[in-house]
Amino acid sequence: MQYKDQIRAWLLAHEEAMRDDLSELVAIPSVKGTPAAGAPFGEKPLEALHLMLEKCQNYGFSTDNADNYAGCVSYGKDAKLGILAHLDVVPAGEGWIHEPFAMTYDAETDKYIGRGTSDDKGPAIAALYAMRAVKELGIPLKHGVQLILGTDEENGSDDLAYYMRHRELPPMVFTPDGDYPVINLEKGMARVEFHAEFSDGKSQILHLSAGEAVNAVPAYAEATVKGVTIDEFLASRQKEYAGTGIGCSVDENDLLTIRVDGRNAHASTPETGRNALTCLLEILCPILNDGKQAEAVRALSKAFPFGETDGTSCGVKIADDISGALTLVLSVMRMDEGKLTADCDTRFPVCASGTNVITQIGASVRPLAYNVLMCDDPHYTDEKSPFVQTLLRVYEDVTGEQGKCLAIGGGTYVHHIEGGVAFGATFPGVDVHMHGAEEFIQREHLLLDAQMMALAITELCG
Ligand SMILES: [Zn+2]
Repeated sequence: MQYKDQIRAWLLAHEEAMRDDLSELVAIPSVKGTPAAGAPFGEKPLEALHLMLEKCQNYGFSTDNADNYAGCVSYGKDAKLGILAHLDVVPAGEGWIHEPFAMTYDAETDKYIGRGTSDDKGPAIAALYAMRAVKELGIPLKHGVQLILGTDEENGSDDLAYYMRHRELPPMVFTPDGDYPVINLEKGMARVEFHAEFSDGKSQILHLSAGEAVNAVPAYAEATVKGVTIDEFLASRQKEYAGTGIGCSVDENDLLTIRVDGRNAHASTPETGRNALTCLLEILCPILNDGKQAEAVRALSKAFPFGETDGTSCGVKIADDISGALTLVLSVMRMDEGKLTADCDTRFPVCASGTNVITQIGASVRPLAYNVLMCDDPHYTDEKSPFVQTLLRVYEDVTGEQGKCLAIGGGTYVHHIEGGVAFGATFPGVDVHMHGAEEFIQREHLLLDAQMMALAITELCG
């Protein structure tokens, strides 16, 4: 590929500056804050945007601030390619050894460590250095390129929605906010909430609680039940639940509390988890008598059996070759004597209709009522398009690995951009601790990101 070595050499000569720019950006804890006038996502994401736009101006690019929601950095006219990255981050959370908001270079492992180094400040800086390399090497382009910088990806992407209402995106857009080689298919996603009220006075469960997030397999669930002894509970157990821990205790009022430990997983890959909630519902069923509450628990348990993640019991099991199988997770539930709410999350293949999936799930949990929390269609960009084929070639040429398209159950930043794909920036098999403690980016990977993005620009806009 033309310019490959020249670009690599330029990047190596500017590696220190790239690291310093990334370090400055990581030092801003750009977690979503309280919205204020002129700061739609709070003070810190705005600070990160201003810093980045100022840097880009100093490197000779023209910039456009879309009302502090997002920014655009342009090189050349008639932009054909847009690179979409985000400058906001998730909170630091627990468990860090290094400072999350002061980037560290660890010589032993050759890593830059800090919140945002991989998601997505590192890739944003790599994109800037890709544009710098192309510009400063004087590589001729027929069309322009834009770096679009968002500030709300982690909390619903209202930044991008605003940007798309007020600016025009180039015809080809990729985001370095996913995985290599290329993600061209994102399943559809729907979330449904079930609810019921009980007034027949027969409720035995005084309290039930499980799950924190609708997009996760719950790792813990507990319920407090009246009128059942420990012996009765133990005698009622009909089977083993692999991968879970079940405990119980009785308090001074003879109330039985049952606790289930499972294993957390993202709702897009529920087969890697152990659902504590569906386990709890199954072990509650045999100890409940009759009444509306018991009926509701049994209906939920029947529709969401422990160990099932493909929607079989709700009648929505479906798969296709390009997307894989539908997944369905009962993720959150709150119940007291008189009231129940429970949420589920489904990721459905391109061949399925979101409306049909929702209707079918709703019908499967009668007599509970339901309402739709959200429904997003699948996102699919043709693998054979010249755009995708070029990105795959760039990946193969630079890494020496085979380029191929990936289908995922999660949504990326380009989910609502027609024809968009994710191109990097996580390399296959590398766990960069995204959203966790000790997030990092490999020094060499940052260079490769910049080199691949520069080649994507020269190949697509040259
Ligand atoms: Zn991200």
